[in-house]
Amino acid sequence: MDSASLMEELQLRVRELEEALAREQGGGQGQRARIKLMSPEVTDSNPYSRLMALKRMGIVKHYEKICTFTVAVVGVGGVGSVTAEMLTRCGIGKLLLFDYDKVELVNVNRLFFQPHQAGLSKVQAVEHTLRNINPDVQFEVHNYNITTVDNFQHFMDRISYGGLEEGKPVDLVLSCVDNFEARMAINTACNELGQTWMESGVIAANIDEKTLKRKGVCATSLPTTMRLVAGILVQSVLKFLLNFGTVSYHLGYSAMQDFFPTMAMKPNPQCNDKNCRKQQEEYKEKKAAQPKQVVVEQEEEIVHEDNG
Ligand SMILES: [Zn+2]
Repeated sequence: MDSASLMEELQLRVRELEEALAREQGGGQGQRARIKLMSPEVTDSNPYSRLMALKRMGIVKHYEKICTFTVAVVGVGGVGSVTAEMLTRCGIGKLLLFDYDKVELVNVNRLFFQPHQAGLSKVQAVEHTLRNINPDVQFEVHNYNITTVDNFQHFMDRISYGGLEEGKPVDLVLSCVDNFEARMAINTACNELGQTWMESGVIAANIDEKTLKRKGVCATSLPTTMRLVAGILVQSVLKFLLNFGTVSYHLGYSAMQDFFPTMAMKPNPQCNDKNCRKQQEEYKEKKAAQPKQVVVEQEEEIVHEDNG
């Protein structure tokens, strides 16, 4: 066994032990025990009763199915950390988190991260906080940059096999990254795997990109904007997974004007990515066979220059 796989095995073992410990401590100080079945029972101690009310109101047919889904969140910065928290509180089955960054005090102007977490890897900090909030959720975290060759392959493998039931693909990939390279890596991986994914991004309107790119200058870092984007993203995730409402192909929010434009984006039939062209063909065939089907996957690379 090479040292990389030994390392991976040891990390896995540590995680198992941490999970066992968390279970042991469940119900103890400040923590709750795991819940096997989501109950609609209206009691103050049922963390899912408000969510299960969506069933009684006739909005969602089977809310409890939420715990059967796996979502990969790539990038757990301003948008991704809050996205992961919302999904955790909703009772998602499993979260895969990818990020190579560390928590720094500069991140605290946004939401989620706390000063005492400075120095921890972001994925580790997110996992610790969220496991405490909801021990029913399974976590798999990867503290690396998905754009390097080795990591990209590992990333593809975990998207393909890291589902709630090991060996099954994840249900959805969420792109919450802040740079073009990572965005393209997710795009490439998902097109190759035929994996549905959703993009998110924050851009500053009317600000010169060069100013925006200068480190430390980011007009889009308001905690309000980040939470709005995460909220819109998770709303789309819930609608997509639990099959209710309408999932827009593209939904924007103009913070300066309070305007929510929606639109369909057409893929580029001459795209350089052969897998993108293949997905376009498959989509056309699927659409021809099932004219009513709604497909949410965004097949075109939507280029958000920077989301800080
Ligand atoms: Zn393309």
